[in-house]
Amino acid sequence: MKATVGVRTDIGRARQRNEDAYLVRTPVFAVADGMGGHQGGEVASTLAVEALGELDLRADGVMEALVQSIREANGRVLERGEGDPALRGMGTTLTALVTDQDRAHLAHVGDSRAYLLRKGSLQQLTEDHTLVQRMVREGRLTPEEAERHPQRSVITRALGVEDEVPVDELTLPLLDGDRLLLCTDGLTGMVGEARIHEILGSEPDPQAVADRLVEEANGAGGEDNITAIVVFFEERNDAEPRPKDTGSPAPLAAGDGAAGTGAEPSPPRRHRWRRLVVWVAVLALLASGAFVGIRSYVNRQWYVGVSDGEVAIFNGVPTSVLGYELSSAREPTGIPADQAMQFEAWKGLDDGITAGTLVEARSIVKEIRSDLERAATETP
Ligand code: CA
Repeated sequence: MKATVGVRTDIGRARQRNEDAYLVRTPVFAVADGMGGHQGGEVASTLAVEALGELDLRADGVMEALVQSIREANGRVLERGEGDPALRGMGTTLTALVTDQDRAHLAHVGDSRAYLLRKGSLQQLTEDHTLVQRMVREGRLTPEEAERHPQRSVITRALGVEDEVPVDELTLPLLDGDRLLLCTDGLTGMVGEARIHEILGSEPDPQAVADRLVEEANGAGGEDNITAIVVFFEERNDAEPRPKDTGSPAPLAAGDGAAGTGAEPSPPRRHRWRRLVVWVAVLALLASGAFVGIRSYVNRQWYVGVSDGEVAIFNGVPTSVLGYELSSAREPTGIPADQAMQFEAWKGLDDGITAGTLVEARSIVKEIRSDLERAATETP
């Protein structure tokens, strides 16, 4: 199968840096969307695509090699973040595609996406590892509500956070005329699926598709960095047999969506009753003398709160029992808390904004940071 490629990345209209990175080294393609303070986001996404660039294509199993190289990328981002205080807490999404004759192998972590346009219909091949997507799966939000949800960018899985990261995998046969799109959420957050479908289907050239998608996202506000890789597949002229399978591929395995802990789904944030529930749970555990239980419950909780006037990520629950604080600040962010709390969405920082996992906590910090950046660009 012959592949022609178009790619474009753009800082967008609101951000001060482009934290997206991509790799186009046919037959390997990837997009990565980094998060973290200082240069962290850029470093994380660049490290990830660099690791992928070293993928050994002579290996027997392409998918095994691909997943292995994503594990390698995870290790590198984690190690670099742990070794440099300025980069601490960085992470990245990664959505990667490797083509192998008449097959496409996809591997995916986070909320970047892969789409397939085949015979006029568009299908999302990846599932977002986001809080709202999990809530959709649990029937607590409709897909339409999820699209507009203020915390739609909070992700539940990323590279560079824990030693082990679950990777979604999908292999599908390629057909003549297939068009694949890899993109970061700066595109999908701004441009609806119907419009993506239209643009991907109407342009004769993949570079023109990538350019138009980015222009469209900027035209809609360009609130985030935008990256799109577009690959058109065509049967080679030499008489290769056509693949017989024309069925639609199934979406990637859903998985639990939570990184590492397998903790219970996160309830909506900023609800005071949750503190009460936590209290009751803690008291119940105390009463039963289950100290080990308390420790392990508390250690699995994360929230974003205020420490010494700055936003920080805490491990534990935002309360104390009999004078014992049940949390400790783990990651400072350098963000002045009073600035963050000017935003309606972050007023709850004083009480602590609950996150299901460390990844979610970091993702919330990323949201706070981008709200502040956006405000800074809007008020010159
Ligand atoms: Ca993004």
